[in-house]
Amino acid sequence: MSAKHVIVVVGAGPAGLSVANLMSKQGHEVVVLNRDIKFGGLAEYGIFPNKHRLRGGLRKGYWEILTRPNVHYLGNVMVGNGYHLTVEELRALEPSALVFSTGAQGTKTIGVEGDTAKGVYHAKDCVYHFNLLPGFSASPFEMGQRVAVIGIGDVMVDIAHWLSSRKRVAEVHVVVRRGPAERKYNPKEIRAVCSYIDQESLGRELARVAARMEAVGQSAEKVLDDMKAEFTKCESPESQTRMYFHFLSSPKRVLADAQNHVTGLELEDTRLEVKGADTAAVGLKTTYALPCDSVVFAVGDRVDEKVGLPYKGGVFITNPNRTQNDPDDSLFQAYDEASGSVLPGIFLCGWARKASEGLVGVAKRDGEWCSEVVARYLATAVPPSEDAAQKRKRLEALLASRQPDLVRADDLMVLSEMEKQEGQRRDIEEFKFPANEEMLAVIRKNKAGAKVPASR
Ligand SMILES: Cc1cc2nc3c(=O)[nH]c(=O)nc-3n(C[C@H](O)[C@H](O)[C@H](O)COP(=O)(O)OP(=O)(O)OC[C@H]3O[C@@H](n4cnc5c(N)ncnc54)[C@H](O)[C@@H]3O)c2cc1C
Repeated sequence: MSAKHVIVVVGAGPAGLSVANLMSKQGHEVVVLNRDIKFGGLAEYGIFPNKHRLRGGLRKGYWEILTRPNVHYLGNVMVGNGYHLTVEELRALEPSALVFSTGAQGTKTIGVEGDTAKGVYHAKDCVYHFNLLPGFSASPFEMGQRVAVIGIGDVMVDIAHWLSSRKRVAEVHVVVRRGPAERKYNPKEIRAVCSYIDQESLGRELARVAARMEAVGQSAEKVLDDMKAEFTKCESPESQTRMYFHFLSSPKRVLADAQNHVTGLELEDTRLEVKGADTAAVGLKTTYALPCDSVVFAVGDRVDEKVGLPYKGGVFITNPNRTQNDPDDSLFQAYDEASGSVLPGIFLCGWARKASEGLVGVAKRDGEWCSEVVARYLATAVPPSEDAAQKRKRLEALLASRQPDLVRADDLMVLSEMEKQEGQRRDIEEFKFPANEEMLAVIRKNKAGAKVPASR
């Protein structure tokens, strides 16, 4: 048997599957461990539910990778401290490389007083909820009629889309610490909600903050024109929801009633300060109240510290010592500050490396770069293993002893077929089982002999 490398990829989102793709093409044995039963990460559980073509296209590509003979998918497994397997246990099994593409599973807070009141939510939890990720799908995520959403990126757009089309709230108030020139959403994404935007009120809001914009050389009039130019091809509204913006306003406090239910937000006026090519918001100490009954923070994510890699301030630490290579190896290498050395053979990519950075294409490219770095490492630092198959089996046996419900690609084919049939029965574009138990019941039933035709 020829010597091979065993590569373990932790996290089957766009970044991890990009690594699995390239590493398996190079002939290595690739084991993919994934927290969710299904692969895809935020491509499955983040992208807005009505983007069927995008999601379907991505799924098709992922199936192709995961059904290769040298790719071994094990879902329903968490790596980390207190989870099924720790990083140290994985290292002890001596894979040639361990790639962490676990995404950014922690939520970022901006430390606002009162942010634990009832009616305060984090955007990613809402996103997981409306995309039916088990664990989030069944919680009610009750919203009132006047919802403040903090942030102005693509995730804010998806939250506003959900609030208007599904929750059908009366008003969505977008609260932005900086100004309209610093909006972060993709102009194409805003089409999903631009029909709800109250354009008269937007004009008044830009006039309100015009002097503060002009103080840093921005023209409110031009920015308003640019924004409006993006409001083309707006999707048809599905409700009467109206959407308003509040710029140069920083949340100071969540206001709540005696039962600790949200009643509003205290916002501090800000001004802009130029910092190199960027701008920062500086508090002006004057405040105003925005009445609302729910608040959603859409201010980005941080990684899950419990994974157990060196961590600081919301991110996993990478090697600060730059190399001359392109892509630069150091950016992908996990690094231990205490010993001042890289963790040999441990790499990071995608949102686990740079939380909330970019769309699927960016995560995929990050996986490609990471694969180049891993390939360089394999060529210089580790001999291939004579017993790659044995190593993989040892890993699977250890995992099976910790998680009896390991889910493999074959199981997912059965599940996928059942979901397809259920979707047809209900005459809906897509059906998803919303709970792990329901998915596992289908898989167990199939294993017990009640075979479902295995086509996709
Ligand atoms: C609300 C929202 C909407 C988006 N919409 C779009 C869009 O329309 N178009 C677009 O191109 N991009 C969109 N994106 C961006 C895109 O989803 C991300 O760029 C991409 O998914 C990041 O990929 P990733 O592999 O780094 O992380 P993720 O997609 O988060 O994948 C991480 C994977 O790791 C697994 N995992 C996590 N922790 C562990 C653990 N401890 N052990 C084992 N496995 C673990 C998870 O189960 C998951 O499968 C959206 C993102 C969000 C948040």
